[in-house]
Amino acid sequence: MSSKPRILEVRTQILKKNDELARALRQRFDEAGVYVVSLVSSPGSGKTQLLRQTLIELAKQFRVAVLVGDLRTDNDAKRLAEAGVPVRQIETGTMCHLEADMVERHLDQWNLSELDFLFIENVGNLVCPATYDLGEHLRLVLVSTTEGEDKPLKYPTIFNTADIAVVTKMDLAEAVEFDADKLRRSVQDVRPGMEMIELSAKSGQGMAAWISRLIAGREAAVSSAG
Ligand code: MG
Ligand code: ZN
Repeated sequence: MSSKPRILEVRTQILKKNDELARALRQRFDEAGVYVVSLVSSPGSGKTQLLRQTLIELAKQFRVAVLVGDLRTDNDAKRLAEAGVPVRQIETGTMCHLEADMVERHLDQWNLSELDFLFIENVGNLVCPATYDLGEHLRLVLVSTTEGEDKPLKYPTIFNTADIAVVTKMDLAEAVEFDADKLRRSVQDVRPGMEMIELSAKSGQGMAAWISRLIAGREAAVSSAG
């Protein structure tokens, strides 16, 4: 007899199923040659704004599409569609995060081999998205200059499962007395060596380096997937 509480067992099963599905998705993405990038942040950290500018830039050279998770409204999906790329919304209802099966269901009728990049905007939440692998190649956690430099210390798990910490809204840094060194220290305390990028989708600061980083990431993934 196990002494583990039942809820924990159920949760472990759900996560195991999610991980298996995510692995299968990643393999499917590799075979199709599409590089998949997910974005996680608190609400209001500028995910949609950054994504919109990123799509506009990448769409000049690449075939790009987006899945956007949102509790109920399609405001973000509409803003993203202005970039002129295919956008599909995953309405999560009461669910505060995306899971691999939701991603899989929304890929229906998309020919992945005709895409170079697929972006997945997760629901605004730094807690449970950390636990669910979506099959992405690159996971970004966004922190804006307006949020407080101790965010990584409060939500260490998401910083430990993401690949890059992206500091957004650098155009507001001075006005809100943002302490870049303090944030860098918080990130490094939680995750030593974590890659960080500081940018502003509004002013354009850091955007060229950011786009180059995405393109380099895709090239490395495509060549290692053979
Ligand atoms: Mg958004
Ligand atoms: Zn959740």
